[in-house]
Amino acid sequence: MTHRLLMLPGDHVGPEILAEADKLLRCLMADFGLDAELEYANLGGCAVDAEGEPFPRSTQRLAEEADALILGAVGGPQWDGLDRDRRPETGLLAIRSALGLFANLRPAILFPELVDASSLRPDVVSGLDILIVRELTGGIYFGQPRGIRTREDGTREGYNTLVYGTDEIERIGRAAFEAAARHNGSLCSVDKANVLESSELWREVMESLAPAYPNVRLSHMYVDNAAMQLVRDPRQFDVIVTGNLFGDILSDCAAMLTGSIGMLPSASLDERGRGLYEPVHGSAPDISGEGVANPLATLLSVAMMLRHSLDEGALADRVERAVGRVLADGHRTADLAGPGVASIGTVAMGDAVVNAL
Ligand code: ATP
Ligand code: MG
Repeated sequence: MTHRLLMLPGDHVGPEILAEADKLLRCLMADFGLDAELEYANLGGCAVDAEGEPFPRSTQRLAEEADALILGAVGGPQWDGLDRDRRPETGLLAIRSALGLFANLRPAILFPELVDASSLRPDVVSGLDILIVRELTGGIYFGQPRGIRTREDGTREGYNTLVYGTDEIERIGRAAFEAAARHNGSLCSVDKANVLESSELWREVMESLAPAYPNVRLSHMYVDNAAMQLVRDPRQFDVIVTGNLFGDILSDCAAMLTGSIGMLPSASLDERGRGLYEPVHGSAPDISGEGVANPLATLLSVAMMLRHSLDEGALADRVERAVGRVLADGHRTADLAGPGVASIGTVAMGDAVVNAL
């Protein structure tokens, strides 16, 4: 069956890095038997400019029909002054919720060739390979009631609600147990159950799922301790599952352990494995148009797509090995090159991966 892939280049470096994903996919189609067709649509600032809104109906229709989506990045200073509902970032939140993408997977893998780029010592991080599974469509970012109101004495207060239902906890829990079973078999659930009732229920539901996954060891950790342990001894973790707010913070923290933001892929999945795949970094307006952006986070996102949405695990392994090979051969974009080390541009890096493949 032909996989329908929707390409969303977005803004600034988005189109530059997505052109490399396109090149990689066409190589996989021509030489490795991948059966796919690529379509393109607007999301973000480019959609505001072309169609008047950041997540147009036409994009939504194509998104709903697609088996998987690959996004570059959205946003940039020229759209910052718009009303909230027309901002590029609103388009991103809208597509996530329209597609029901509740599970965000962010691997933090340190390629051996980049061990010196980490914020930690080589003896603490070398071999790092962890995965953070973050709940993406619930929790305090969406809970009601929320707002800013005036108290009786005239002072104001801002308030948000942290609420998680058992259904929401169960589905992110299942996604995380399955990820841990594919990974190295241990799952650490991160919460704040000593203070928060929502975390108390979270812990209870995670425990209730455990018997269905006898090959996964479940443990629990408070979020403050987890933050400390991530920078003290990150290799104690395999897969981490946590809620929306804690996951937002911990995944950025884990990202820095691997060195460059230009290396980190992500997946956001719905209940039947359809996903939106994108680099963790933003649209990098400061370097756009120069052809120097690192495309590897996007190419590694393509690998995640092959594995999670297209059931092409062997091809995913191949792409990841090709990236490792290119690094081992000494190819570096500017963000990865140390002082005095020669660097190559976006297109040359994409070519190197295709050649290694
Ligand atoms: P957002 O809010 O969309 O996440 P941001 O302002 O947090 O955006 P990025 O757009 O990710 O940040 O850029 C942060 C820094 O990292 C910038 O200096 C940018 O040039 C750099 N950067 C981001 N992506 C890449 C990449 N693929 N290659 C090289 N440098 C990058
Ligand atoms: Mg950012």
